[in-house]
Amino acid sequence: MSQKEIESLFSTLDTSVQMLQKELGVSYLEGLSETGENILDGKKARRENNLPSEETAEALNTLYQDLPLAEMEPEEIRKSFQLALLKGAKEDKLQANHQMTPDAIGFVLAYLIETLMDPTLKTIRLLDPAVGTGNLLSTVYNGLSARNIEVVAEGIDNDDLLLVLALISTELQGQKIKLTHQDALTGLLVDPVDIVVSDLPVGFYPVDKQAKQFKTSSEKGHSFAHHLFIEQSIHYLKKGGYGVFLVPSQLFETEEAAALTKMIQEEAYLQGMLHLPKELFQTKNSRKSILLLQKKGNHAQQVKQVLLAQIPDFKNQPAMLHFMQEVETWNKKNK
Ligand code: SAM
Repeated sequence: MSQKEIESLFSTLDTSVQMLQKELGVSYLEGLSETGENILDGKKARRENNLPSEETAEALNTLYQDLPLAEMEPEEIRKSFQLALLKGAKEDKLQANHQMTPDAIGFVLAYLIETLMDPTLKTIRLLDPAVGTGNLLSTVYNGLSARNIEVVAEGIDNDDLLLVLALISTELQGQKIKLTHQDALTGLLVDPVDIVVSDLPVGFYPVDKQAKQFKTSSEKGHSFAHHLFIEQSIHYLKKGGYGVFLVPSQLFETEEAAALTKMIQEEAYLQGMLHLPKELFQTKNSRKSILLLQKKGNHAQQVKQVLLAQIPDFKNQPAMLHFMQEVETWNKKNK
């Protein structure tokens, strides 16, 4: 992968965003969505009410003409776009629940999916019901495509700006991903999928009436969105399909966990819980883990030994290799 091209595309995106910010008075991420739409729209700056000025629009068009998109691999484009997203998240002070899934975590999720999936599948249906900027879904998509697996993916989010950014990033990468702007905890027009992968929003879901449709809703007050998301995801999995979720490490330690545990026991098998390295998180309460569920049916069974692991520090290569061997041995024993 060429670092030079990744940085060059980021630098062009960044320059164009700054030009748009200056003239339109928009935030960084709004500027990124504007420039992304211009690029997709024939590499031509859109003007409304004489803004941006003709001079700036011309300068933007010249920048867009030099974009090396045609020579770049999807992963390179994703990484460039991700650098711009990271800058935007910092500059716009995006709240934690809206931040994109960092690569380090995305790669572990992608690795788990590639290891777990049925090796005879040539096509795989993926869903991320909290797709945000699309970074996680794109990472998994590119990982599977690199193994010559055809991916049919869908993403849902209720934040329109993040969803536009996901649309731009995935289109620039040439990915076939259907994106829908919707509250993912309402009825979805999604055919059952092989895998749901999602970095779940953590906290309360404000719509109590809707939450009441779920077994994991709380009896009093607001329910936990991440519990409802897990239940909703299981609804849209094929029998025997996997749910791979990024969740708070203390998922099963709260008072509300009883209803979640009961729902999981009824609908699925808890096949694994992998704790991410604590160095990645600032506080104990913000630590995350990967929850691995398999929907009941189609010969799925509770594994003899649930995969419980502490993922080592990503920088420790020998420990990472050892961890991957452990996962592969576990997978072979339980297939
Ligand atoms: N994986 C994403 C990425 O790489 O950008 C980041 C996901 S972020 C941690 C959680 C996402 O959940 C946010 O984009 C937020 O807008 C979305 N979200 C929160 N509540 C939602 C709801 N009820 N329906 C759909 N999306 C929701």
